[in-house]
Amino acid sequence: MASITLDQIESARRTIADVALETPLMPSPYLTALAGQDFLLKLEMIQPIGAFKLRGAANAVLNLPQGTAGVTCCSTGNHGRGVAYAARRRGLRAVICMSSLVPQTKIDGIRALGAEVKIVGRSQDDAMAESLRLVEHEGVVEISPFDDAHVIAGQGTIGLELIEQCPDLATLLVPLSGGGLAGGVAAAVKAVSPSTRVIGVSMDRGAAMHASIAAGHPVEVEEVASLADSLGGGIGLDNRLSFDLCRTLLDDVVLVTEDEIYRALQTVYYEDRLVCEGACVVGVAALQAGKLAPSPGPVATIITGRNLDMAIHADIMQGRDVKLGDLTISGQAYHA
Ligand SMILES: *Cc1c(COP(=O)(O)O)cnc(C)c1O
Repeated sequence: MASITLDQIESARRTIADVALETPLMPSPYLTALAGQDFLLKLEMIQPIGAFKLRGAANAVLNLPQGTAGVTCCSTGNHGRGVAYAARRRGLRAVICMSSLVPQTKIDGIRALGAEVKIVGRSQDDAMAESLRLVEHEGVVEISPFDDAHVIAGQGTIGLELIEQCPDLATLLVPLSGGGLAGGVAAAVKAVSPSTRVIGVSMDRGAAMHASIAAGHPVEVEEVASLADSLGGGIGLDNRLSFDLCRTLLDDVVLVTEDEIYRALQTVYYEDRLVCEGACVVGVAALQAGKLAPSPGPVATIITGRNLDMAIHADIMQGRDVKLGDLTISGQAYHA
């Protein structure tokens, strides 16, 4: 069985200490009233790359041996940005492979960090194939966005901070895609606070980890457009670590709709004054939709990133329709 130890996560914390921020845990008065118990937001969107993925990427890049020729990865955007940022700090070449589903704002962010960007195909799997080709032909090292022990331990450092900031944390809602975040955070939280419940939340279209846990083994799902674009992509049919971690450590996985994500984006903006991505409000969406079985004590969710297209954000805040590929989400003006 796969496992990530507390030692690995504590070691990651020392490794990334001067690259990634320790982020605040912000109380949300509005969501606290709605939940009837303390509701806290872990502000990972204020990391230097605008997302938590810097933690795992930095831990992986800083652990590479001397003489490494360069790094590559496939990414829905934020992992690539983290790898590009960490590689630049180490003076390494970085080649980031992405599918055409990745929003332009994320591509621009990665180029601005000096990395090479390759847009290949229409899915994460296509991008992954190109990344592996580069490993073979150009001698660069691949850093998986979620299925790598250093990446998972890096993401797990969020869990250590959370329990220090809120020792009696009862429930943690974690945005879930490939499961590097949820697996690492659950490993940390369960090691230091076994009674804290850790619940993964994904969008209901193309939730690969949810489908894989239900099937008992990694399965493929069709990748579709979503407001939570950072949660797209599969978990890899040859998944080594994150699937077992999520299957054994998560207490539950909850799914939310695009309409629920749309509304949650409005809520965190109008009530908490935060600009963030669809992927990071799935926990708030689950609460608002009444999809969480309440257990007494503080609830927290990880606000994972803010790298979204600002034109889309403006449309949502104005209650306008949003078109993403073949998906249209009907607009609705915000009301508390
Ligand atoms: C990558 C990402 C996630 C999900 O992390 P996984 O390790 O793939 O489960 C959630 N939110 C944002 C903003 C991300 O970039």
